[in-house]
Amino acid sequence: MRWLICLGALLLSAVSVQAQAALAALGQRPDPARLEPYQETITREEFERLLRTLYAPQGGWEPFIRLAADQASILVDSRRGDAGRMVLRFARSEEPTRPPRFWRDSGTARLAGLANEKWNPLRPLAGRRIALDPGHLGGRWAQMEERWFRIGDSAPVCEGDLTLAVAAHLAPRLEALGAEVLWVRATTEPRTPERPETLAAAARETLMGRGVARPPADYAGYEDPRKEESVRWEAERFFYRLAEIRARATRVNARLHPDLVLCIHFNAEAWGDPAKPDFVPRNHLHLLVNGNYGPGEVRADDVRLEMLVRLLQRVHEEELPLAETLATAMARATGLPPYEYTDDRARRVPFSTYVWARNLLANRLYECPVAYLEPYVMNSAEVFARVQAGDYEGEREIAGRKRPSIVREYADAVATGLAEYFAPAPTP
Ligand SMILES: [Zn+2]
Repeated sequence: MRWLICLGALLLSAVSVQAQAALAALGQRPDPARLEPYQETITREEFERLLRTLYAPQGGWEPFIRLAADQASILVDSRRGDAGRMVLRFARSEEPTRPPRFWRDSGTARLAGLANEKWNPLRPLAGRRIALDPGHLGGRWAQMEERWFRIGDSAPVCEGDLTLAVAAHLAPRLEALGAEVLWVRATTEPRTPERPETLAAAARETLMGRGVARPPADYAGYEDPRKEESVRWEAERFFYRLAEIRARATRVNARLHPDLVLCIHFNAEAWGDPAKPDFVPRNHLHLLVNGNYGPGEVRADDVRLEMLVRLLQRVHEEELPLAETLATAMARATGLPPYEYTDDRARRVPFSTYVWARNLLANRLYECPVAYLEPYVMNSAEVFARVQAGDYEGEREIAGRKRPSIVREYADAVATGLAEYFAPAPTP
């Protein structure tokens, strides 16, 4: 059974490693020279500390990343055995180095903003390039991507449309605060040119690799017991989950070059049949930063390289405090308690309440700080009632309390958190 639907879905990318190819599903063989620009940009001490505490605290990386006093021997092409290794030389001093990266940290971005306009406390985001990534697709794809349910003739609860509605409110708020807003997606149409039909062969191969000898071509609805063994179901997942996020990553890394990406999601717990969804009494909030790669994940050549690019770029130096500040603002606005993971997919960031480290496809592939937001449980009675109330100005009484519309509350909280994060530190 799926547990946290929104998150469990994205995990597939990380764990369904094609054993023989040593690549993640739909992953590309990485460029063996990918890490060369990072020679002598990190000390051994920092490299090892980040691996052990944030990126791969469960271990399992040691056969692939061999540490010596002044260098690491990193397997970049496991097909070639030891001939597929590269040497990453460590920096000899703690002197700060500037690892190659397209994004600017908050200090650099602040200087860029100040160069263009005098510091204005009403425009604390001046100089920031912020990309909005409303999660999922919604629209005509919502039922296929299993981000849709309804009760009787209620308005459908559709995550991909809700995230777009939040982004539509968030963009003008961020622009008013001075930011340049970029869109990873702005409509319900996919970024990927792939479709389930074009991915059927890859899906069939994956199913057979998983031991399904004769996968059925199709499935007959939610109740079909062989649904998850069918080529269509697997090909649909390849389309909306893997190919789509990979296409968004290409847009972020090759075109948009933002200083940070906001991955906007609503959470849910397993609801079963979308026509008769189960409700849960819980409602909660958490944010994710990239990290906690499992032993099965660091085995894949592409996943390991993608992890190391993030480590060497020191993405965490921006990502962790950003997530912490956003979480504080979102908790204040929503009053939601923190979510608690009960398995090892995610690990709580030390000293944090709401922020967990987890390897998701989007926060691994986007080569810049990512704030991955997971407020509200859509199949709780309270959130369902708020979604039914739709979008509105001001406040209305819903489920016994006066509140703003759920998408405006979300957008306001994120804008407030970003303004607080980028405001200059008070002078002593
Ligand atoms: Zn989601």
